[in-house]
Amino acid sequence: MNQVTNIAPDVYFHEGDLKGRGHCNNGWVVFQDFVLVIDANFPSGAQEIIPKIKAITDKPIRFAFDTHHHGDHSYGNQVWVENGATPIAHVGVIEQMKKYETGHFGGKPGRWEESAKSRNDVAASKLKPPILLYTNSMIFDDGKHRVELLHLGVAHTHGDGFAWLPKERILFTGDACVNGPYNFTGDGHIAKWIRTLEAAKKLGAATVCPGHGPVGTATLLDDQQAFFVELTKQVKRLARKKPEEVKAAVESIRFELQANERIARYVGDSLAAQVEKVYVERGGKPFLPAKASADDHTQ
Ligand SMILES: [Zn+2]
Repeated sequence: MNQVTNIAPDVYFHEGDLKGRGHCNNGWVVFQDFVLVIDANFPSGAQEIIPKIKAITDKPIRFAFDTHHHGDHSYGNQVWVENGATPIAHVGVIEQMKKYETGHFGGKPGRWEESAKSRNDVAASKLKPPILLYTNSMIFDDGKHRVELLHLGVAHTHGDGFAWLPKERILFTGDACVNGPYNFTGDGHIAKWIRTLEAAKKLGAATVCPGHGPVGTATLLDDQQAFFVELTKQVKRLARKKPEEVKAAVESIRFELQANERIARYVGDSLAAQVEKVYVERGGKPFLPAKASADDHTQ
């Protein structure tokens, strides 16, 4: 953690300090004339890796790609802008920001203001939404390196972006794929997420850089998808049960999922919220009290 890994010539991965400072993972690609960074992180996460990038190259950091709108992936945008970069994202990111970051867009205070209450780095910065937006894909290609920013469907959010390096077969997934008990499902759609992961698998990645947790190989996408498939199977069996009965079954579901070696590492504190999410997607009513199942992913 907090180490720079050179995963291919000019391509780097950095596993963020999630537990201590809430940081996401980052990647960066050194093109011939500039650097493209994958994920803006929190402001303190951006400040953590900028010197590490500068230690590797003197090329300017020109672009910061937000894989989605969550604070740990986008609130650092202002820091990148101050360092000369332009924040980029799928168009869904700005739509989600308009929904959740209402303070910035003229409505009542949103998640940024909430985050600023507990995080000094956020309070000392400001929300800077991405300004360069794409719908299906945006391609960077200087002849030597090619990075395709893609949108493959709804997953962890309604604006998930992937960074795909076809030459090196490296895929940066943001939180559409994680490696550990880090799946926050509140802003996404699990059934669609499974399909989006199927599309990601078709790219044929050899190296998968997740939004949180250590780097993996192609099987990481399979494992992430298998977790949601198995979770869905478990909840399906309870389709006709009442919300309180489904809620009471969470611990037995935990036991079943943990027994599956491939997906055990995905089972964590958010399981009740994940079970509820599948149940609600399939037509069930939310568990009560609603507050008890609230999941604080980014804080
Ligand atoms: Zn996220």
